[in-house]
Amino acid sequence: KGLNQQSLADMPSHVDTPNYDRSKLKAGIVHIGVGGFHRAHQAVYINELLKMPGAEQWGICGVGLLEGNRGLRDILKQQDYLYTLTVRHPNGQIDNKVIGSMIDFLFAPEDKQAVINKLAHSDTHIVSLTITEGGYNFNPVTGEFDYSNPDIINDINNPNDPITAFGYITAALKLRKEQGLDAFTVQSCDNIQHNGNVTRKMLLAFAAEQDKELSEWIAANVTFPNAMVDRITPVSKKSDIDYVVDAYGVSDEWPITCESFTQWVIEDSFCCGRPDWDSVGAQFVSDVTPYETMKIRLLNAGHSVLGLLGSVHGYSTIDETVSDPLFAKYLRAFMDKEVTPNLAQLEGIDLEIYKDTLIERFANPNIKDSLSRICSESAAKLPKFLIATINENLAQGRDVSLATLVIAAWCFYSDKGVDEQGNTLEIIDAMQSELHEAAAKTASDDLAFLSLTSLFGDLNTQSAFTSHYKNNIEALYAPASKIKAIMNNVLEPK
Ligand code: NAD
Repeated sequence: KGLNQQSLADMPSHVDTPNYDRSKLKAGIVHIGVGGFHRAHQAVYINELLKMPGAEQWGICGVGLLEGNRGLRDILKQQDYLYTLTVRHPNGQIDNKVIGSMIDFLFAPEDKQAVINKLAHSDTHIVSLTITEGGYNFNPVTGEFDYSNPDIINDINNPNDPITAFGYITAALKLRKEQGLDAFTVQSCDNIQHNGNVTRKMLLAFAAEQDKELSEWIAANVTFPNAMVDRITPVSKKSDIDYVVDAYGVSDEWPITCESFTQWVIEDSFCCGRPDWDSVGAQFVSDVTPYETMKIRLLNAGHSVLGLLGSVHGYSTIDETVSDPLFAKYLRAFMDKEVTPNLAQLEGIDLEIYKDTLIERFANPNIKDSLSRICSESAAKLPKFLIATINENLAQGRDVSLATLVIAAWCFYSDKGVDEQGNTLEIIDAMQSELHEAAAKTASDDLAFLSLTSLFGDLNTQSAFTSHYKNNIEALYAPASKIKAIMNNVLEPK
C-alpha cells in the first residue's frame, strides 16, 4: 500500500500523522530546493504549527529548479506530497511521523511561468531556500557575485525564461511590484554564515544587472532574515525505504531519516508576515551571529575533523569514527583547547553541555552519516569552519596543533585519494582538481598544498603554523604511516 492522503486513515497509532485538514491549507511559503534537510527541518516545524489552530495560511509549496528534481516531483505527487520522517534518537528510540505541511510541488523545467506565478501569488508571504552553498553563486575567494556563470548570463538577458533561483525570484518580485502587491520575505535556510545578508547581496547584484529600478525596490521592500539551522540529515538510502515498509506496512518512496536534535535561531525580520515558529521550538533573536559562530566552529568544524582524519584512517561514517576513543578524545581536545577560547558566552547556552551533546549526536549509531558527505565541498567549508579558528588562535599566540593535522590530512586525502587500507575515497568538491594538483606537489615541497592562498591566505608564511604542518606532512607521507599514531603524538607530544 502506498503512502497518500487516503492511506493516512489506516496508519497504526504509533505513527504520528497530520491531524489537521490539509484541504484547508494555503501555500504561504514557497520553498526552492526540497532536499532532505528542508523535509527534516522547516517542513517539520510547519507540520507541528499546523496542528494548532489559525496557521492554515502557512502550508508549503515545494519548487524544484533542477532537472534532477523530476523524480522527486513524481514521487511527491503520487504521495499527495506526504512523506515519512524517521527520527532516530541516540538511545535507539525511533519516532515515525508523516509530514503533511507540503501541499504542492512545482517542477520548474516543465513550466517556468507556473513557478513565477506561484511566487508572485498574493498567498505567498515567504520564499525560502535550501539550494546548497553553490546555489548562491558567489565567488568563494572574493565573496562577490559571479557574473561569469552561464546560467546567470542567461537569466540576466532573459528575465522571462529563468534557470536560477535569482532569476525566478526577481521575475516574481517584478510581477508583484507591477501588481501593487507587497514583496515577500526571502528566507535562506542554508548553512552559510549570515545567510540572509549573503542572499540579499547576491540577489541585489543580480537584479541590478537586469533592472536597476527593480533592484532598488527589492532593496527597499524585501527582507532577508539571517538564521542558524541545525539538524543532521543524511542522504536517504534504500534501507530507509525498507524500514518504513517494515515499521508500518506502507511504502513511501522517499522517506527522510534524521536525528532527534533540531535547532533554528532566526532574526525576526519578515516583511510580509511569518508563522509563529517560536511556538514550535524555533528561537527569534536580534543577532544570530554568535549562535552561528558557535555552531559552525564546533559542529561543522567537528564534522570536518572527524571526516578528514576518519577518511584517511578508513572509517566510513561519523558514528563509527567518533566511537573510536582516540577520535573522540581528539575531537574534544580540539573543541576545548582550540575552539572554545574564541567563542562568546551565549545567553541560554552552556558550552560544556553543547559540546557533550554534540559528541552524543555524532555518536548516534542510528544516523549513518557518511564521511564522503561530510568531506564534500571541503574547499567551500573549511575556510569558515576551521581556518578561521586557526587564524584567530595564531593572532592570539595560542596553540593550533590539533587543527593543523586536519589541514595536513586534507592535503594527504586530496593527493592520494585512498585511505590507509588502500580503499578509494569518494571525493566530491568543486575545487577537486585544484586541490589534487596542489597536494600532488607535496612530495617535492612540504608546503605545496598551502599555495592555494584563496583557501589558506598567508598560512604558508606563519611559522607557528608551518612548523606543525611540516611535521604532520612528514609523518603522513612516511612509509606505512598511521594517522592514529600521528594523532596520539599531536595529543601528547613527546
Ligand atoms: P540535498 O542534496 O538533499 O538537497 C539540495 C536541494 O537543493 C535539491 O533539491 C537540489 O536539487 C537543490 N539544489 C542544489 N543546487 C541548486 C541550485 N544551484 N539551484 C537550485 N536548487 C539547487 O541536500 P540537503 O541535505 O537537503 O542540504 C541542503 C542544504 O541544507 C545544505 O547545503 C546545507 O546548507 C543545509 N543543511 C543541511 C543539513 C544536513 O544535515 N543535510 C544540515 C543543516 C543545513
